[in-house]
Amino acid sequence: MFNIALDGPGGAGKSSIAKAVAKELGFIYVDTGALYRAIGLYSLRNAIDTKDIDGVINSLKSINVDFTYVDGEQKVLLNNDDVSTDIRLPEVSMAASNVSAIPEVRSFLLDLQRKIANEKDCLMDGRDIGTVILPNAQLKIFLTASAEVRAKRRFDELTAKGQEVNYDEILKDLNERDYQDTHREIAPLKQADDAVLLDTSDMTFDEVKAKILALYEERK
Ligand code: C5P
Repeated sequence: MFNIALDGPGGAGKSSIAKAVAKELGFIYVDTGALYRAIGLYSLRNAIDTKDIDGVINSLKSINVDFTYVDGEQKVLLNNDDVSTDIRLPEVSMAASNVSAIPEVRSFLLDLQRKIANEKDCLMDGRDIGTVILPNAQLKIFLTASAEVRAKRRFDELTAKGQEVNYDEILKDLNERDYQDTHREIAPLKQADDAVLLDTSDMTFDEVKAKILALYEERK
């Protein structure tokens, strides 16, 4: 199997780039953040404090998280319920970041991620794909951009969807999440030694896509 690991901070454009590249290559796209979001959503729905480590660990026995693909698009199932839309609610982002710092949550989701990569050519995005989940991925990319550019892109994306959002709040939320994701003890957000760094602050979508496809051609 050919595995591409795509890591980077929130709002770096990982998911839109990943979808486009995966489509071009005929790979499946795996958005691992959706898994942490599903667990964060479960906590919010069941009034479990996402900073309450024991409470979150205890909830895992009532949780089943899985992926399914409908017309090539990833759907996330939380106890067989499609939560792909609800996990995008703004409050779920921080909840996901909180629960993702808990080692038991990470090990709970590990097998599912490795199994998919073992079975299919895939492009997997997240925070620790190149460092922890798929250390042998044939191509690793660390995608980043300045915090301001990332916040602006997220702002435009949500505004285009008709949501009313505040740029400063988005920037603050991204910075807080990045700080927390980068400084946690387990599987922190970090560029793998053998990953290619792509700073997309001054690159267009098509340039980033072309660059990743060129890297793939080189490695395959
Ligand atoms: O990628 P996304 O922004 O949807 O991820 C939500 C949160 O899930 C991140 O802020 C991070 O804390 C966590 N996450 C993670 N490891 C991954 C993917 C996401 O810890 N592989």
